[in-house]
Amino acid sequence: MDNKIEGYPIYQWSKFTEDRLEQFVVRSNDFYDFIAALDNIKGLIAGNISIPDNQAIPEPLQLPTNPPEEPETQIIPECPIHHVLMKERRNKSGQTWWDHRFKDDQDQWHICNGKKERVQS
Ligand SMILES: [Zn+2]
Repeated sequence: MDNKIEGYPIYQWSKFTEDRLEQFVVRSNDFYDFIAALDNIKGLIAGNISIPDNQAIPEPLQLPTNPPEEPETQIIPECPIHHVLMKERRNKSGQTWWDHRFKDDQDQWHICNGKKERVQS
């Protein structure tokens, strides 16, 4: 499960500055927070709110970043009868299952799915 917030943001508003070098973005899932933030930003844009010099501007709200995709790790099952690792098989319609094959003393191949084994014809 990644840590992306489902459906985020519900409310979003953005506006470029006239030189288009900066963009104001307001995002929130809470409508009242959104309106409050929007008012602040609009006040800021209109110059009604000034950010004093030497005061750190709060970091813009960052969406949580997803962790890098991890390669899918596949657990290879072990045959409970023979205690060997099984192989994944796939038929033409895409169904997959696990089995393993082994040769007996008579050079006869056996197929085992971990529950039953049969002689390969
Ligand atoms: Zn087996």
